[in-house]
Amino acid sequence: QAKQLGRNCVVAYRDEFGAQASERLALVSQLRDALQTGQFALVFQLQFDHRRQPVGMEALLRWRHPERGLLTPDAFIAVCEDSGLIVPIGRWVLREAARHHQILVAHGWGHLRIAVNVSAAQFQQGLVEDVLSVMQAFALPAGILELELTESVVMASPDAVIRDMATLRDAGACIAIDDFGTGYSSLAYLKRLPLHRVKLDRSFVRDLGRDPDDEAICDAILRMAQRLGLCTTAEGVETDLQWEWLSTHGCEELQGYLFARPMPFEDVLALLEAPGTP
Ligand code: C2E
Ligand code: MG
Ligand code: MG
Ligand code: MG
Repeated sequence: QAKQLGRNCVVAYRDEFGAQASERLALVSQLRDALQTGQFALVFQLQFDHRRQPVGMEALLRWRHPERGLLTPDAFIAVCEDSGLIVPIGRWVLREAARHHQILVAHGWGHLRIAVNVSAAQFQQGLVEDVLSVMQAFALPAGILELELTESVVMASPDAVIRDMATLRDAGACIAIDDFGTGYSSLAYLKRLPLHRVKLDRSFVRDLGRDPDDEAICDAILRMAQRLGLCTTAEGVETDLQWEWLSTHGCEELQGYLFARPMPFEDVLALLEAPGTP
């Protein structure tokens, strides 16, 4: 009886495992199709200075899935990274972001920065060449294209990433550390990294004005960034209380639902051109 039960368990486990693996395989092939048939899209979230003037926007990837509707990256980005598909997809994101910047230029908003998220695999597979060729092809001036990478991207292979970051900086790209404070990184790296900006993770921003521990963490990160000569952006700003706290504590730029949600590019343009707003 026990033996029978044990065997069933193994079978059940194997089926479960097999189902997950084949689901993943199906997803990978759907993602490959998605890239070929133009199912990916970018939405853009405006970023503002402390006086609520627009300073840039972050490009965020979406997948218009034929059956499941519009998907956010949490549903597919990990599989893109594991399968290596993030390399061609990331290349598409870069070009698409640069193309939209040209439209901004045509509308007199060419001074706005455009930020793109990049994964570790992209660094390992020709990110520097991709960025340089996009900057040249779209005549992006220095200081316009910003690359957002997390601490884990740096820690994956610090020496190689630091070298590539320096090349990118010298070519006129800006580098931001995304979700700062949530990863495993050594503070010692901060002084070695050719960085422009630190983005305060929204998990610390959420309870500003309410939780003294989160306030201590944000205050420390903001002061350290200032002392190191880095710009700061807060993510996930949703309330006036958070905005006020961040402004009085020297956070230079803000991003969050309070100011603008991620939206299609046409809506960003409409928002920029609306009289009196933003
Ligand atoms: P992230 O780079 O930290 O992007 C910020 C995320 O916070 C976005 O989620 C955005 O929609 C969300 N957000 C912005 N403001 C608020 C707010 O006020 N409140 C709350 N609750 N959320 C807010 P999204 O678009 O789902 O993207 C999730 C993550 O996926 C991004 O986090 C980034 O790590 C990754 N990602 C997005 N696009 C790309 C891409 O093109 N390439 C790569 N490699 N990763 C990407
Ligand atoms: Mg980001
Ligand atoms: Mg972030
Ligand atoms: Mg975040």
